[in-house]
Amino acid sequence: ADDVEALLDALDRIGERLHDEQAYLTELDSRIGDADHGNNLARGISAVTEKRDDLAGMALNEAVKTVGTTLISEVGGAAGPLYGGSIMSAAQELDGGLDDETALAFAEAYREKLTERGGARPGDKTMVDAVTPAVHTFQRAVEEDDLALVDALAKAVDAARRGVAYTVPLRASKGRASYLGLRAVGHRDPGATSTLFVLEELLATAE
Ligand code: ADP
Ligand code: MG
Ligand code: MG
Repeated sequence: ADDVEALLDALDRIGERLHDEQAYLTELDSRIGDADHGNNLARGISAVTEKRDDLAGMALNEAVKTVGTTLISEVGGAAGPLYGGSIMSAAQELDGGLDDETALAFAEAYREKLTERGGARPGDKTMVDAVTPAVHTFQRAVEEDDLALVDALAKAVDAARRGVAYTVPLRASKGRASYLGLRAVGHRDPGATSTLFVLEELLATAE
């Protein structure tokens, strides 16, 4: 179906982007973590794009669920279960395909699962600092401002970008960076940054 074609396009773009940014994301993680975030995600997205032909034969919800389970098993570390588990669980919301309603439900379910699994709140210097403003902005843009999904997604990307900038002056309260105390200050969070890159590529696919 068309929505699975769009998913495959998005995955190709995200794969290319994460490989382009692999060294940069790993460099960010070398400052406040263990220097593997870019490598973890590049390995994960490669495993996903290798399943392209299988995904093409699935319904959207099943394909997205498979993306999630693949990321869980291939990415590892903190980010694997957080990205993969949240995608896997939010995939249920897409059983009617993709429209305004299911897109909103997917975004909200992703945010909810992520915060439930990781226990991080906004301000803890994690990927939650990109996801939370992005999802809230997306919801407002569709529900209150009545924007089309692509325009709402553009606003969500801007919100995520501000969320990444907001992580810079923070100390971390979750994940490896929390062991650094004040030494984490002045560095952007790797997971928030990779989340922004994924959202930028979703937007580029939708445009
Ligand atoms: P690891 O820290 O196990 O090496 P990665 O380097 O792949 O895993 O991912 C690190 C990123 O994971 C961090 O930059 C942060 O955004 C995110 N992260 C870590 N712990 C949490 C958590 N409890 N909740 C949300 N995000 C988290
Ligand atoms: Mg790491
Ligand atoms: Mg690690």
